[in-house]
Amino acid sequence: GSEQAARYFRGVLDTIAAYQPGRTAVSPDGRSYKLSSNESPYDPLPSVVEAIAAAAREANRYPDNGATGLTAAIARRFEVPTDHIAVGCGSVGVTQQLLEAVGEPGSEVVYAWRSFEAYPLLADLAAATSVRVPLHDETHDLDALASAITERTRLVLVCNPNNPTGTVVGEPELSAFLDRVPSHVLVVLDEAYREYVRDPAVPDGLELYRERPNLAVLRTFSKAYGLAGLRVGFMVAHPQVAGAVRKTMLPFAVNHIAQAAAVASLAAEDELLKRVEAVVAERTRVRESLLADGWAVPPTEANFVWLRLGERTVDFAAACAEAGVSVRPFPGEGARVSIGSPEANDIFLAVAKGYRRRKQ
Ligand code: PMP
Repeated sequence: GSEQAARYFRGVLDTIAAYQPGRTAVSPDGRSYKLSSNESPYDPLPSVVEAIAAAAREANRYPDNGATGLTAAIARRFEVPTDHIAVGCGSVGVTQQLLEAVGEPGSEVVYAWRSFEAYPLLADLAAATSVRVPLHDETHDLDALASAITERTRLVLVCNPNNPTGTVVGEPELSAFLDRVPSHVLVVLDEAYREYVRDPAVPDGLELYRERPNLAVLRTFSKAYGLAGLRVGFMVAHPQVAGAVRKTMLPFAVNHIAQAAAVASLAAEDELLKRVEAVVAERTRVRESLLADGWAVPPTEANFVWLRLGERTVDFAAACAEAGVSVRPFPGEGARVSIGSPEANDIFLAVAKGYRRRKQ
């Protein structure tokens, strides 16, 4: 009734009010290192900037609503048919479309917690009920996730590697989990950080989905491809799911500058993947240095590290901010720190070392 609708409406407003976007810290001497949003630390490649400039000259025209050129480029690159692809306004945009396509008010969305902070927000906006399954050892507890599925469940989100912990699930566990998921449930494998994975046990969703009509795979141009500011991501899934998601897109949600930049990024992929390799090397260096200083850092396959700081989280984030380093604190739990440029990483490591010495 209207009472319930009013309660729902207040709930959504509360969720939105509680959301805190990442802030950028500046040190007293004016330095600023943004390690709070898992972005690429590199400027766009000249070829990508050129494509952006060319597309800007057509800003008077609406973009191609079907993202035909980009969809074809994704299809070629990942060897999937075009009708298995849905492009959206970031992979967050695609996730929102998925929730709109398959969720109805009162349906349940199951996901691990802590995981990507957009999941509860998007579930609330779709009037779906969030079912959060605690991580076990900072990792997805796939058994518990499967057990949390009911007949009201429409969607299970599995973030691999997981944001903010960087941990992964391997192929045998994931396949065993997928075997347990009933066919009325769509599993969404969020692979926003797939390009940073070096552990050979981690499955490639784009292989797995071929045998699984109820598996959808999310990828993004925001991280490894360095286009976070342009908002473009995509989903690969069976044609029925992909078609439903394409139909729920806000008209022209992916603008043609973003489409052109994504096409140019795929064309320059070799160069971009060299940058990913450099980030992976820095990740190893950062984690080893933290471990050597006595920090407990879970193994990470993404472009960030996770420090479980508990009650010290906010204090630690403040110490980082004083040095101009922005990290992502989750008060009472821990801080997620992106792998940045070698210089930014050095500054962060120096802060972390000093903090540990002081607080021992
Ligand atoms: N999924 C996960 C797990 C993420 O961490 C992020 C970025 N923070 C996204 C999706 C969002 O990506 P996009 O910029 O494509 O919306």
